[in-house]
Amino acid sequence: MTPTKRSRIPTLCLLLTLAMFLIAAFPTGVLAGPPIVKIKVAEFPKSLLLQMEQGGTWKLGSASGRLNKKDRCEITGVLETHAKKRFHVMVESLPMREPLKVAESLAKWRATGRAVHTFQAGSLSHSYDGRVLFIGVGQFDTRESAQKLSDELSAKTISNWIFEEILSRSKGKIAISVNGRRVARGSGPLSLSPTPDVAIRKVEFARGYSWHGYADRRFRGPITIGWGAQDALDCVLTTNLEHILAGVVPSEISSNAAPGAIQTQAIAARGEILSKMSLRHIGEGFHFCSEQHCQVYSGDDSVSEKIAVIIAPTAGYLLQSAKADIIDAVYAANCGGHGDRNDLVWTSPPDPYLIGVWDCAIPPALDLTNETDVASFIRNPPQCFCQDPTVEGGDKFRWTRNLSAADWKKVESAAGVGPIRSIDDFARGPSGRLYKITLHGKTGDKSVMKELKIRQLFGGLRSACFIVAWKRDSAGFISGAEFMGAGWGHGVGMCQTGAQYLAREGWDYGKILSHYFPGSRLVKWY
Ligand SMILES: [Zn+2]
Ligand SMILES: [Zn+2]
Repeated sequence: MTPTKRSRIPTLCLLLTLAMFLIAAFPTGVLAGPPIVKIKVAEFPKSLLLQMEQGGTWKLGSASGRLNKKDRCEITGVLETHAKKRFHVMVESLPMREPLKVAESLAKWRATGRAVHTFQAGSLSHSYDGRVLFIGVGQFDTRESAQKLSDELSAKTISNWIFEEILSRSKGKIAISVNGRRVARGSGPLSLSPTPDVAIRKVEFARGYSWHGYADRRFRGPITIGWGAQDALDCVLTTNLEHILAGVVPSEISSNAAPGAIQTQAIAARGEILSKMSLRHIGEGFHFCSEQHCQVYSGDDSVSEKIAVIIAPTAGYLLQSAKADIIDAVYAANCGGHGDRNDLVWTSPPDPYLIGVWDCAIPPALDLTNETDVASFIRNPPQCFCQDPTVEGGDKFRWTRNLSAADWKKVESAAGVGPIRSIDDFARGPSGRLYKITLHGKTGDKSVMKELKIRQLFGGLRSACFIVAWKRDSAGFISGAEFMGAGWGHGVGMCQTGAQYLAREGWDYGKILSHYFPGSRLVKWY
């Protein structure tokens, strides 16, 4: 029977009521399955070699073809137009779901008389509202000009960062050759559909780090190769988040750790990745890079079957705030005994879930922002979860480092204020990590803001939670240093060493996560 027009209206009402019920029952962000992510897995200046071990297909413009398993494939590119960028000096990043805070900060920066501008990042689709507003005080055509303003602000102890806006990616030609014979050429991008793996030769990793190198890597899933924002050929893998996690977790934790610790690590990494979706590499054509900057991922060879089985039951789980936002569940190797605050370590507004907690059963009565207390904490540590040397990372709980006269010359040249007479103005977060110091040199004074910059200034210290004895030359200038410190890494969020210890003691992932992220709720998001 065909329904009359009149009978359709109640049906429509019923459907609408049902739809409203479903929307109320399931938050808007709930996904059907793991989110699809695009991750840049390799970058080459102009050419690369690859093989599809079980064969597959390629497509470049209107041309396409098959690759058999023994075929040696070379992709070459010729750059024609450089990427166009604009450099912003940003001073704050604020979640757009907090409009009052945004308005308050904008008013504060406008009152300084600076030319304030904003940039919207993030997205609505992958977290409930992952949009973020960056507040900037200067836009420039070159990084050098932006750096000048950045240095000027830092000298006034205004923390800031340089944000590189991609106006357009580079352009050029791409050619594909199979077994030495060119088969197609075009503007790209080139799409590869392996069944299921592609092996890419000599992938560069950890550029700028001491463990920098090249390795052959295998990836599962479609890959596009095109001219990117860094005037190079970007290889971008499309896959799902759970597949990436099976490769990410083994690089963060040993497969010999207690299963509870491995599961905790997977949940934290999932939340961190999702909460940062679309906040980095804006305009570059992918969500994440596979380097330290975003999320270290070295492909299928990093996937541990043992770990994959352990983390499978946690699929889709992450931490939410009371307002149902995804918590940025960050982590670091060893907190040293107390965690730190996100806003002191980075340039983000204070996050009530990242306040830093004592990593101890019985917190001592110490205020680590105080120089006397921090010295006692470093020299005579209280009983902490992350100090057991039989747990991975436990040997990083306390450390020493000496800088020789030659090492100190490097510090001097990085500081740029001539021979350094004194360093003071120590400001510490709740973990004892320094977030500000001031150098007094022969040719000027300089403040260094944020823990990472302080660690880098002194040649790469394990953490910025340290006390130091200066060595001096006959003229009274500093000529070397003996550091004694606590912890490894930024110290915000979960302490990976402490989590492993607690899991070994029988804590499950829910209990461990609520220790490091007090007030958070564990939810199954997909
Ligand atoms: Zn990145
Ligand atoms: Zn710890």
